Amino acid sequence: MHYELTEEQKAMKELATKYAARTIAPIHEQDEVEGIFRPEIVREMGELGFWGAIIPEKYGGTDTGFVSSVLITEAISRVSPAYAGHFLTQTVGTGLAILNNGTEEQRQEYLPHLVSARLLGCFAATEPDAGSDLVSMKMTATEDGDGFLLTGTKNWITNAPEADIGLVFAYTDKGKRHHGISCFVVDLKNNPGIETRATEKLGQRCSKVGEIIFTEAREPKDSLIGEKGDGFKILMGLLNNTRLFAAARALGLEEACLEKSIEYARTRVQFGKPIGKFQMVQEQIAEMYVHHEASRMLVYQAAANKDRGINDNLEVSTAKYFACESAVKAADAAMKIYGAYGFSMEYPIQRYMRDSRALVMTEGSSNIQKIVIARNLLAL
Ligand SMILES: Cc1cc2nc3c(=O)[nH]c(=O)nc-3n(C[C@H](O)[C@H](O)[C@H](O)COP(=O)(O)OP(=O)(O)OC[C@H]3O[C@@H](n4cnc5c(N)ncnc54)[C@H](O)[C@@H]3O)c2cc1C
Repeated sequence: MHYELTEEQKAMKELATKYAARTIAPIHEQDEVEGIFRPEIVREMGELGFWGAIIPEKYGGTDTGFVSSVLITEAISRVSPAYAGHFLTQTVGTGLAILNNGTEEQRQEYLPHLVSARLLGCFAATEPDAGSDLVSMKMTATEDGDGFLLTGTKNWITNAPEADIGLVFAYTDKGKRHHGISCFVVDLKNNPGIETRATEKLGQRCSKVGEIIFTEAREPKDSLIGEKGDGFKILMGLLNNTRLFAAARALGLEEACLEKSIEYARTRVQFGKPIGKFQMVQEQIAEMYVHHEASRMLVYQAAANKDRGINDNLEVSTAKYFACESAVKAADAAMKIYGAYGFSMEYPIQRYMRDSRALVMTEGSSNIQKIVIARNLLAL
């Protein structure tokens, strides 16, 4: 299927495809087994301008736009959904929120370093008792003298054990419910009140997740992003962007499943024929292709609209839901096509299966996307 890309977009996609093939692919499968994160890869991608594609040049970005960013994410995710996830922690879920809601001083202080990956970032909303229902978060930020004291625990935070800074969401006024949540940019490495712990997980093991425990962690007044009480609005804007990039990661994973399945169906011989000659295998491959193409159109369209300044949550949730569910289906079909070898650690198919599961849960589960879609349609 044809999607018109500019020369700049094609060049960014090609650069990311080559980088992923040359630098990440040779070490990736073994690193995934051992759960090794290599910060130098994130820094190199920063030097190549990947993280800055949605950040203006005056803050160190390249300002090539959402479509370019999505294409880079897709190309990296075809090899590594784990490293593609750093789009969310370096700029989409951190720098972009600072750009849209921070002061000029905050932009100058953080954006160039997130874009270059001199600073590694994270965003921390989820808590042990607050996943889909983020308003039930317990973390508080209490005003104290010339700053705030942050107390509470965040969990399932991508990059928590590695990040230098994080966008952290906490109540400054619990009584106001979502109007009482505020957003802070926090130095995670140099604060005696902050501790991080890594969490073992099933897939995307080259990217670390973990807990961040705040015990009366003192933060200065100017760590507040926006005004007190703006946190929920900032978080919803952030999720509108991170959801699109979860969908872009799904595109790369779907593509990997499709390519590997075609390769195997052409070469695996049973009953004297390549298994790709059997109609039921053809159907599996055709379904995978159709879902992948449809996912692409939804994701590219939502990205192109963001480049036009349109942030339509119906469009983003539709793309997120469809692409991420399609990635799970593609990994499942690839497992079937590979038979016993799909179950073997010798091939990446088992990893596709494991990696795909996180995509339907992060940035709002598939159920949450369907709620957003239905609410938009029903307007009740
Ligand atoms: C690999 C990974 C990385 C992550 N990275 C981050 C990060 O960087 N920062 C961050 O803040 N968080 C992060 N998260 C957390 C993630 O955003 C949450 O897992 C997600 O929001 C869902 O929350 P939960 O897991 O607590 O599930 P729950 O909210 O407990 O949901 C459990 C099940 O109930 C369903 N459910 C819940 N409410 C409803 C409803 N109203 N209607 C229908 N069904 C419902 C859900 O769909 C799900 O199937 C990460 C999670 C993972 C797995």
